[in-house]
Amino acid sequence: MKIAFFDTKEYDKDAFNIYAEERNIEVKYFEPRLNIDTVSLTKGFDAVCAFVNDDLNKEVIDRLYENGVRAIFLRCAGFNNVDVKACFGKIHVYRVPAYSPYAVAEHAMALYMTNNRRIHKAYNRTREYNFSLNGLTGNDMHGKTVGVIGTGRIGKCFINICKGFGMNVLCYDAYPSDDSLNYTSLDEIFEKSDIISLHCPLTEETKHLINKDSIAKMKKGVSIINTSRGGLIDAKALLKGITDRKIGSACLDVYEEEADLFYEDKSGHIMNDDTLLRLISMPNVIITSHQAFLTHEALENIADTTTQNILSFFNKEEVNANEICYRCGHQEICKKARKQKCF
Ligand code: NAD
Repeated sequence: MKIAFFDTKEYDKDAFNIYAEERNIEVKYFEPRLNIDTVSLTKGFDAVCAFVNDDLNKEVIDRLYENGVRAIFLRCAGFNNVDVKACFGKIHVYRVPAYSPYAVAEHAMALYMTNNRRIHKAYNRTREYNFSLNGLTGNDMHGKTVGVIGTGRIGKCFINICKGFGMNVLCYDAYPSDDSLNYTSLDEIFEKSDIISLHCPLTEETKHLINKDSIAKMKKGVSIINTSRGGLIDAKALLKGITDRKIGSACLDVYEEEADLFYEDKSGHIMNDDTLLRLISMPNVIITSHQAFLTHEALENIADTTTQNILSFFNKEEVNANEICYRCGHQEICKKARKQKCF
């Protein structure tokens, strides 16, 4: 079992080494991301372990297959960066569907609260003995309406947090799954919410869900939180909404063009992405670099489940709910419905 591990960070190694050693899995850590330029490194490996910004398009999948790779182990939940259709019949794909929904939901709320109560600004001020409160006024959260789009694992955790604050919660999901939630239409979410938080996957249907038209339907002063995937928001439309004073604040852990930036130290570099630069410069925008998952508990769960997925594949286990294919990704058309292996 030789695994090529891409986009490695020190915190990945720390968590992963413990489980890999215990489970007798040979791992070679590569710092670069997996893409067409680095795919040649996979020669001689049985499988790869990849993360959110590795680019597993059709060309890369074909090259992986030529190199003898037979499985991709994603150490994340989302799989929008993998052409699962191209993998079908060739390479098995596994993911970690849930490692800590709490980590992401709590980060979403932390971003909102930091922005709302200007904690980041207050922190900088008091470090310089500036005890003025001017410009630090926030809003009560109690009694406000929050619209949650996507009521899966993370969305549900976020809803519970919001309820704890005494907020009214409106929900939208393409596949509503919980009778106790207050489901409504997307339009009503846009029209009535003071805060909108995105917790759905990035798919063809959800790409640029937040766009010029949906922003036009929103309340003036609305706050938008995105800890899901950057592509859910048309960033240029978001910026326009902010400069038009329509959007009151934006809390972003993800950004559509994050792949070459996030997780890297780019200080000292000339940045070319004008939209991101302008967003960062706005006083009502707070951005973290895809860190919502980053808790000790999540890293440990990711390493544990990924190494279990690796054992499951090499032990030829017939059914593993963590395996995905283009059909399992759309379970309503998945004929095998996890009763046997995808192929
Ligand atoms: P989940 O699969 O449990 O829930 C996703 C929900 O979205 C489901 O209820 C599904 O029915 C719903 N959905 C699907 N298509 C939809 C559509 N067109 N419109 C509205 N809802 C739709 O997933 P999860 O574990 O809650 O994760 C949600 C997302 O969070 C993931 O897709 C991933 O992109 C993102 N995520 C981000 C981080 C981070 O570090 N920032 C970490 C983990 C996950």
